[in-house]
Amino acid sequence: MSIQIRNVTKTFGSFRALDDVSADIPTGELVALLGPSGSGKTTLLRLIAGLEDLDPGRGSIRYYEEDITGTPVRKRRVGFVFQHYALFRHMTVFENVAFGLRVLPRGARPTKAAIRDRVLELLRLVQLDGLAGRYPAQLSGGQRQRVALARALAVEPRVLLLDEPFGALDAKVRTELRQWIRKLHDELHITSVFVTHDQDEAMEIADQVVVMNGGRVEQIGSPAEVYHSPRTEFVMNFLGQVNTFTGRAVGRDIEFADLRVAASDGRLRDGEVRVFVRPHEFELRGRANGQPCAAATVLRIHAAGSVARLDLQLADGKLITAEVPQDRFAALAASTGDLVYVAPRRVHVF
Ligand code: ADP
Ligand code: MG
Repeated sequence: MSIQIRNVTKTFGSFRALDDVSADIPTGELVALLGPSGSGKTTLLRLIAGLEDLDPGRGSIRYYEEDITGTPVRKRRVGFVFQHYALFRHMTVFENVAFGLRVLPRGARPTKAAIRDRVLELLRLVQLDGLAGRYPAQLSGGQRQRVALARALAVEPRVLLLDEPFGALDAKVRTELRQWIRKLHDELHITSVFVTHDQDEAMEIADQVVVMNGGRVEQIGSPAEVYHSPRTEFVMNFLGQVNTFTGRAVGRDIEFADLRVAASDGRLRDGEVRVFVRPHEFELRGRANGQPCAAATVLRIHAAGSVARLDLQLADGKLITAEVPQDRFAALAASTGDLVYVAPRRVHVF
Protein backbone atom coordinates (compact mmCIF):
# COMPACT_ATOMS: atom_id res chain seq x y z
CA MET A 1 0.00 0.00 0.00
CA SER A 2 1.52 3.32 -1.04
CA ILE A 3 -0.52 5.78 0.97
CA GLN A 4 -2.60 5.11 4.05
CA ILE A 5 -4.88 7.88 5.22
CA ARG A 6 -6.25 7.16 8.66
CA ASN A 7 -8.99 9.05 10.51
CA VAL A 8 -7.86 12.40 9.20
CA THR A 9 -9.67 15.50 10.38
CA LYS A 10 -8.88 18.98 9.16
CA THR A 11 -10.48 22.16 10.40
CA PHE A 12 -10.09 25.73 9.20
CA GLY A 13 -11.05 27.88 12.19
CA SER A 14 -14.27 26.28 13.36
CA PHE A 15 -15.07 24.78 9.93
CA ARG A 16 -14.45 21.07 9.52
CA ALA A 17 -13.28 20.56 5.93
CA LEU A 18 -12.40 16.88 6.49
CA ASP A 19 -14.13 14.72 9.05
CA ASP A 20 -12.54 11.39 10.03
CA VAL A 21 -11.41 10.48 6.52
CA SER A 22 -9.71 7.15 5.88
CA ALA A 23 -8.61 5.76 2.53
CA ASP A 24 -5.88 3.62 0.99
CA ILE A 25 -4.05 4.43 -2.21
CA PRO A 26 -2.70 1.12 -3.51
CA THR A 27 0.76 1.09 -5.10
CA GLY A 28 0.72 1.70 -8.82
CA GLU A 29 -2.97 2.52 -8.99
CA LEU A 30 -4.78 5.60 -10.15
CA VAL A 31 -7.28 6.66 -7.51
CA ALA A 32 -9.86 9.39 -8.10
CA LEU A 33 -11.14 11.65 -5.35
CA LEU A 34 -14.62 12.43 -6.63
CA GLY A 35 -17.15 14.78 -5.10
CA PRO A 36 -18.97 18.06 -5.58
CA SER A 37 -17.26 21.38 -5.15
CA GLY A 38 -16.45 22.01 -1.48
CA SER A 39 -16.47 18.34 -0.48
CA GLY A 40 -12.84 18.44 0.67
CA LYS A 41 -11.01 16.88 -2.28
CA THR A 42 -8.34 19.55 -2.65
CA THR A 43 -7.86 19.71 1.12
CA LEU A 44 -7.23 15.96 1.22
CA LEU A 45 -4.83 16.18 -1.71
CA ARG A 46 -2.94 19.02 -0.04
CA LEU A 47 -2.66 16.99 3.15
CA ILE A 48 -1.28 14.05 1.17
CA ALA A 49 1.19 16.40 -0.48
CA GLY A 50 2.25 18.02 2.77
CA LEU A 51 1.12 21.48 1.64
CA GLU A 52 -1.23 21.56 4.61
CA ASP A 53 -0.94 20.10 8.11
CA LEU A 54 -3.47 17.76 9.70
CA ASP A 55 -5.14 18.89 12.90
CA PRO A 56 -2.68 17.80 15.59
CA GLY A 57 -3.48 14.34 16.89
CA ARG A 58 -6.36 13.90 14.45
CA GLY A 59 -5.26 11.12 12.16
CA SER A 60 -2.18 10.09 10.25
CA ILE A 61 -0.85 9.71 6.73
CA ARG A 62 1.68 7.03 5.84
CA TYR A 63 3.73 6.62 2.67
CA TYR A 64 4.96 3.09 2.18
CA GLU A 65 4.43 2.30 5.88
CA GLU A 66 6.37 5.36 6.98
CA ASP A 67 4.44 7.96 8.99
CA ILE A 68 5.02 11.20 7.12
CA THR A 69 2.47 13.24 9.02
CA GLY A 70 5.11 15.82 9.94
CA THR A 71 7.40 15.43 6.91
CA PRO A 72 7.70 18.63 4.87
CA VAL A 73 6.54 18.66 1.26
CA ARG A 74 10.01 18.78 -0.34
CA LYS A 75 10.99 15.52 1.37
CA ARG A 76 7.93 13.57 0.23
CA ARG A 77 8.90 13.26 -3.44
CA VAL A 78 5.49 14.09 -4.81
CA GLY A 79 4.71 15.42 -8.25
CA PHE A 80 1.83 17.87 -8.71
CA VAL A 81 -0.33 18.98 -11.55
CA PHE A 82 -2.95 21.58 -10.70
CA GLN A 83 -5.68 23.14 -12.76
CA HIS A 84 -4.03 26.53 -12.61
CA TYR A 85 -0.49 25.57 -11.77
CA ALA A 86 0.93 27.96 -14.29
CA LEU A 87 4.11 27.05 -16.10
CA PHE A 88 7.01 29.47 -15.83
CA ARG A 89 6.10 31.86 -18.60
CA HIS A 90 9.58 33.14 -19.29
CA MET A 91 11.00 29.61 -19.67
CA THR A 92 10.76 27.32 -22.67
CA VAL A 93 9.00 23.97 -22.49
CA PHE A 94 12.41 22.34 -22.12
CA GLU A 95 13.41 24.63 -19.25
CA ASN A 96 10.08 24.11 -17.51
CA VAL A 97 10.47 20.35 -17.54
CA ALA A 98 14.13 20.52 -16.54
CA PHE A 99 13.45 22.88 -13.64
CA GLY A 100 12.86 20.28 -10.92
CA LEU A 101 16.07 18.49 -11.83
CA ARG A 102 18.17 21.67 -11.99
CA VAL A 103 17.20 22.72 -8.48
CA LEU A 104 18.09 19.38 -6.89
CA PRO A 105 20.94 19.60 -4.39
CA ARG A 106 24.34 19.17 -6.03
CA GLY A 107 24.75 15.53 -4.93
CA ALA A 108 21.37 14.43 -6.28
CA ARG A 109 21.46 16.52 -9.46
CA PRO A 110 21.99 14.64 -12.71
CA THR A 111 24.63 15.86 -15.18
CA LYS A 112 23.66 18.36 -17.85
CA ALA A 113 23.61 15.64 -20.49
CA ALA A 114 21.50 13.36 -18.29
CA ILE A 115 19.02 16.18 -17.66
CA ARG A 116 18.77 16.78 -21.39
CA ASP A 117 18.12 13.10 -22.13
CA ARG A 118 15.53 12.87 -19.40
CA VAL A 119 13.66 16.00 -20.53
CA LEU A 120 13.58 14.88 -24.15
CA GLU A 121 12.38 11.44 -23.09
CA LEU A 122 9.60 12.99 -21.00
CA LEU A 123 8.55 15.25 -23.85
CA ARG A 124 8.29 12.21 -26.08
CA LEU A 125 6.22 10.50 -23.40
CA VAL A 126 3.73 13.37 -23.26
CA GLN A 127 3.83 13.60 -27.05
CA LEU A 128 5.36 17.05 -27.20
CA ASP A 129 8.66 16.20 -28.87
CA GLY A 130 9.51 18.97 -31.23
CA LEU A 131 8.01 21.65 -28.99
CA ALA A 132 10.91 21.86 -26.52
CA GLY A 133 11.87 25.36 -27.65
CA ARG A 134 8.41 26.89 -27.40
CA TYR A 135 7.16 29.17 -24.65
CA PRO A 136 3.95 28.39 -22.70
CA ALA A 137 2.09 31.20 -24.48
CA GLN A 138 2.72 29.37 -27.76
CA LEU A 139 0.92 26.22 -26.59
CA SER A 140 -2.73 25.16 -26.37
CA GLY A 141 -4.27 24.54 -22.95
CA GLY A 142 -4.03 20.79 -23.38
CA GLN A 143 -0.37 21.01 -24.39
CA ARG A 144 0.39 23.18 -21.36
CA GLN A 145 -1.10 20.63 -19.01
CA ARG A 146 1.00 17.93 -20.65
CA VAL A 147 4.10 20.05 -20.06
CA ALA A 148 3.00 20.42 -16.42
CA LEU A 149 2.71 16.65 -16.23
CA ALA A 150 6.16 16.13 -17.75
CA ARG A 151 7.55 18.63 -15.25
CA ALA A 152 5.92 16.76 -12.37
CA LEU A 153 7.30 13.44 -13.61
CA ALA A 154 10.83 14.75 -14.12
CA VAL A 155 11.91 14.22 -10.53
CA GLU A 156 10.58 10.64 -10.50
CA PRO A 157 8.02 11.25 -7.79
CA ARG A 158 6.85 8.42 -5.56
CA VAL A 159 3.34 9.74 -5.88
CA LEU A 160 1.68 11.87 -8.54
CA LEU A 161 -1.07 14.22 -7.38
CA LEU A 162 -3.40 15.82 -9.91
CA ASP A 163 -6.00 18.40 -8.90
CA GLU A 164 -8.62 18.85 -11.64
CA PRO A 165 -5.81 19.00 -14.19
CA PHE A 166 -8.19 19.27 -17.14
CA GLY A 167 -10.77 21.45 -15.41
CA ALA A 168 -10.04 24.53 -17.46
CA LEU A 169 -10.05 22.80 -20.85
CA ASP A 170 -12.95 22.44 -23.26
CA ALA A 171 -15.00 19.26 -23.32
CA LYS A 172 -13.40 17.63 -26.35
CA VAL A 173 -9.81 18.17 -25.24
CA ARG A 174 -10.77 16.98 -21.77
CA THR A 175 -12.12 13.72 -23.12
CA GLU A 176 -9.00 13.15 -25.21
CA LEU A 177 -6.64 13.93 -22.34
CA ARG A 178 -8.54 11.70 -19.98
CA GLN A 179 -8.06 8.69 -22.27
CA TRP A 180 -4.48 9.69 -22.81
CA ILE A 181 -3.67 9.95 -19.11
CA ARG A 182 -5.16 6.52 -18.50
CA LYS A 183 -2.90 5.08 -21.21
CA LEU A 184 0.09 6.90 -19.79
CA HIS A 185 -0.69 5.54 -16.35
CA ASP A 186 -0.81 2.02 -17.74
CA GLU A 187 2.71 2.54 -19.09
CA LEU A 188 4.23 4.16 -16.00
CA HIS A 189 2.21 2.65 -13.13
CA ILE A 190 3.05 5.55 -10.93
CA THR A 191 0.84 5.75 -7.86
CA SER A 192 -1.53 8.61 -8.62
CA VAL A 193 -4.33 10.53 -6.92
CA PHE A 194 -6.59 12.42 -9.28
CA VAL A 195 -9.12 14.99 -8.02
CA THR A 196 -12.22 15.63 -10.08
CA HIS A 197 -15.83 16.72 -9.64
CA ASP A 198 -16.71 15.06 -12.95
CA GLN A 199 -18.12 11.58 -12.41
CA ASP A 200 -17.56 10.53 -16.04
CA GLU A 201 -13.91 11.49 -15.77
CA ALA A 202 -13.49 9.53 -12.53
CA MET A 203 -15.35 6.52 -13.91
CA GLU A 204 -13.32 6.44 -17.08
CA ILE A 205 -9.82 6.75 -15.72
CA ALA A 206 -9.71 5.50 -12.14
CA ASP A 207 -8.91 2.07 -10.75
CA GLN A 208 -10.58 3.10 -7.49
CA VAL A 209 -12.93 5.96 -6.72
CA VAL A 210 -13.19 7.68 -3.35
CA VAL A 211 -16.57 9.42 -3.33
CA MET A 212 -16.54 12.43 -1.01
CA ASN A 213 -19.32 14.61 0.33
CA GLY A 214 -19.22 17.31 2.98
CA GLY A 215 -15.73 16.40 4.19
CA ARG A 216 -16.52 12.72 4.58
CA VAL A 217 -15.93 9.61 2.52
CA GLU A 218 -19.23 8.20 1.29
CA GLN A 219 -17.87 5.14 -0.46
CA ILE A 220 -14.67 3.66 -1.87
CA GLY A 221 -14.67 1.13 -4.66
CA SER A 222 -14.00 0.41 -8.29
CA PRO A 223 -15.97 2.56 -10.75
CA ALA A 224 -18.31 -0.38 -11.39
CA GLU A 225 -18.85 -0.99 -7.68
CA VAL A 226 -19.71 2.56 -6.78
CA TYR A 227 -21.92 2.93 -9.84
CA HIS A 228 -23.83 -0.35 -9.64
CA SER A 229 -23.82 -0.82 -5.88
CA PRO A 230 -23.97 2.64 -4.32
CA ARG A 231 -24.08 2.44 -0.56
CA THR A 232 -25.72 5.78 0.13
CA GLU A 233 -28.35 8.03 -1.42
CA PHE A 234 -25.65 10.58 -2.06
CA VAL A 235 -23.58 8.19 -4.17
CA MET A 236 -26.69 7.02 -5.99
CA ASN A 237 -27.57 10.60 -6.91
CA PHE A 238 -24.09 11.80 -7.67
CA LEU A 239 -23.02 9.02 -10.02
CA GLY A 240 -25.39 9.48 -12.86
CA GLN A 241 -29.04 10.08 -13.53
CA VAL A 242 -31.60 8.43 -11.32
CA ASN A 243 -35.38 8.34 -10.90
CA THR A 244 -36.57 8.87 -7.34
CA PHE A 245 -39.89 7.71 -5.91
CA THR A 246 -41.57 7.75 -2.57
CA GLY A 247 -42.66 4.23 -1.76
CA ARG A 248 -43.44 1.82 1.07
CA ALA A 249 -41.47 -1.12 2.36
CA VAL A 250 -43.72 -4.09 3.13
CA GLY A 251 -41.86 -7.15 4.32
CA ARG A 252 -39.15 -7.79 1.73
CA ASP A 253 -41.02 -5.91 -0.97
CA ILE A 254 -41.22 -2.32 -1.98
CA GLU A 255 -44.37 -0.74 -3.31
CA PHE A 256 -44.19 2.37 -5.45
CA ALA A 257 -45.92 3.76 -8.52
CA ASP A 258 -48.43 0.89 -8.73
CA LEU A 259 -45.56 -1.58 -8.60
CA ARG A 260 -44.52 -4.12 -6.05
CA VAL A 261 -40.97 -5.43 -6.36
CA ALA A 262 -38.48 -7.27 -4.20
CA ALA A 263 -35.90 -5.01 -2.59
CA SER A 264 -32.45 -5.79 -3.95
CA ASP A 265 -30.58 -4.21 -1.09
CA GLY A 266 -31.58 -6.41 1.81
CA ARG A 267 -34.18 -6.27 4.52
CA LEU A 268 -35.98 -3.07 5.39
CA ARG A 269 -38.12 -1.79 8.19
CA ASP A 270 -41.74 -1.39 7.08
CA GLY A 271 -42.78 2.13 6.28
CA GLU A 272 -42.13 4.96 3.86
CA VAL A 273 -38.91 4.73 1.86
CA ARG A 274 -37.26 6.57 -0.97
CA VAL A 275 -36.81 4.38 -4.00
CA PHE A 276 -34.17 4.87 -6.70
CA VAL A 277 -34.12 3.40 -10.19
CA ARG A 278 -31.50 4.24 -12.80
CA PRO A 279 -32.85 4.94 -16.31
CA HIS A 280 -31.27 1.78 -17.72
CA GLU A 281 -32.76 -0.33 -14.93
CA PHE A 282 -36.25 0.01 -16.40
CA GLU A 283 -37.55 -2.62 -18.75
CA LEU A 284 -39.95 -1.27 -21.39
CA ARG A 285 -42.65 -3.28 -23.11
CA GLY A 286 -45.20 -2.45 -25.76
CA ARG A 287 -47.96 -4.27 -23.89
CA ALA A 288 -48.59 -5.60 -20.41
CA ASN A 289 -47.57 -9.26 -20.21
CA GLY A 290 -48.90 -10.26 -16.81
CA GLN A 291 -45.71 -9.30 -14.94
CA PRO A 292 -45.94 -6.33 -12.57
CA CYS A 293 -45.55 -3.16 -14.58
CA ALA A 294 -46.79 0.40 -14.69
CA ALA A 295 -48.37 2.10 -17.69
CA ALA A 296 -46.64 5.24 -18.90
CA THR A 297 -47.13 7.73 -21.70
CA VAL A 298 -44.18 8.55 -23.94
CA LEU A 299 -43.57 12.29 -23.75
CA ARG A 300 -40.27 12.62 -25.58
CA ILE A 301 -37.76 10.39 -27.30
CA HIS A 302 -34.02 11.07 -27.60
CA ALA A 303 -32.81 8.40 -29.97
CA ALA A 304 -29.55 10.03 -31.09
CA GLY A 305 -27.01 8.25 -28.92
CA SER A 306 -25.68 4.85 -27.99
CA VAL A 307 -28.97 4.17 -26.18
CA ALA A 308 -32.46 5.56 -26.64
CA ARG A 309 -33.69 7.75 -23.81
CA LEU A 310 -37.41 8.16 -23.21
CA ASP A 311 -39.14 10.70 -21.00
CA LEU A 312 -42.28 9.04 -19.68
CA GLN A 313 -45.24 10.02 -17.54
CA LEU A 314 -46.83 7.55 -15.15
CA ALA A 315 -50.58 7.44 -14.49
CA ASP A 316 -50.16 9.52 -11.31
CA GLY A 317 -48.44 12.27 -13.30
CA LYS A 318 -44.90 11.42 -12.18
CA LEU A 319 -42.18 11.98 -14.80
CA ILE A 320 -39.47 9.36 -15.26
CA THR A 321 -36.62 8.72 -17.65
CA ALA A 322 -35.83 5.31 -19.07
CA GLU A 323 -32.98 4.17 -21.29
CA VAL A 324 -33.06 1.16 -23.55
CA PRO A 325 -30.54 -0.23 -26.03
CA GLN A 326 -31.19 0.87 -29.61
CA ASP A 327 -32.25 -2.58 -30.77
CA ARG A 328 -34.79 -2.85 -27.93
CA PHE A 329 -36.05 0.60 -28.84
CA ALA A 330 -36.46 -0.42 -32.47
CA ALA A 331 -38.41 -3.54 -31.41
CA LEU A 332 -40.60 -1.42 -29.14
CA ALA A 333 -41.49 0.86 -32.06
CA ALA A 334 -42.87 3.49 -29.68
CA SER A 335 -43.70 7.06 -30.69
CA THR A 336 -44.52 10.16 -28.71
CA GLY A 337 -47.97 9.85 -27.16
CA ASP A 338 -47.95 6.02 -27.09
CA LEU A 339 -48.62 4.02 -23.98
CA VAL A 340 -45.79 1.71 -22.86
CA TYR A 341 -45.30 -0.49 -19.81
CA VAL A 342 -42.36 -0.08 -17.49
CA ALA A 343 -40.98 -2.50 -14.93
CA PRO A 344 -37.80 -1.94 -12.93
CA ARG A 345 -35.30 -4.74 -13.15
CA ARG A 346 -33.71 -3.42 -10.01
CA VAL A 347 -34.54 -0.87 -7.33
CA HIS A 348 -32.30 0.73 -4.71
CA VAL A 349 -33.39 1.63 -1.23
CA PHE A 350 -31.09 2.88 1.53
P1 ADP B 1 -13.07 20.74 -3.13
O1 ADP B 1 -11.67 20.63 -3.63
O2 ADP B 1 -13.73 19.40 -2.96
O3 ADP B 1 -13.91 21.65 -3.94
P2 ADP B 1 -11.85 22.02 -0.83
O4 ADP B 1 -11.02 20.95 -0.22
O5 ADP B 1 -11.14 23.03 -1.64
O6 ADP B 1 -13.05 21.35 -1.65
O7 ADP B 1 -12.65 22.78 0.30
C1 ADP B 1 -13.44 22.11 1.26
C2 ADP B 1 -14.04 23.14 2.19
O8 ADP B 1 -13.02 23.70 3.00
C3 ADP B 1 -14.69 24.29 1.47
O9 ADP B 1 -15.87 24.64 2.16
C4 ADP B 1 -13.66 25.38 1.54
O10 ADP B 1 -14.26 26.66 1.54
C5 ADP B 1 -12.97 25.09 2.85
N1 ADP B 1 -11.57 25.53 2.83
C6 ADP B 1 -10.60 25.01 2.04
N2 ADP B 1 -9.41 25.62 2.28
C7 ADP B 1 -9.64 26.54 3.24
C8 ADP B 1 -8.82 27.50 3.93
N3 ADP B 1 -7.52 27.60 3.67
N4 ADP B 1 -9.42 28.28 4.85
C9 ADP B 1 -10.73 28.16 5.13
N5 ADP B 1 -11.56 27.29 4.52
C10 ADP B 1 -11.03 26.49 3.59
MG1 MG C 1 -10.77 21.52 -5.31
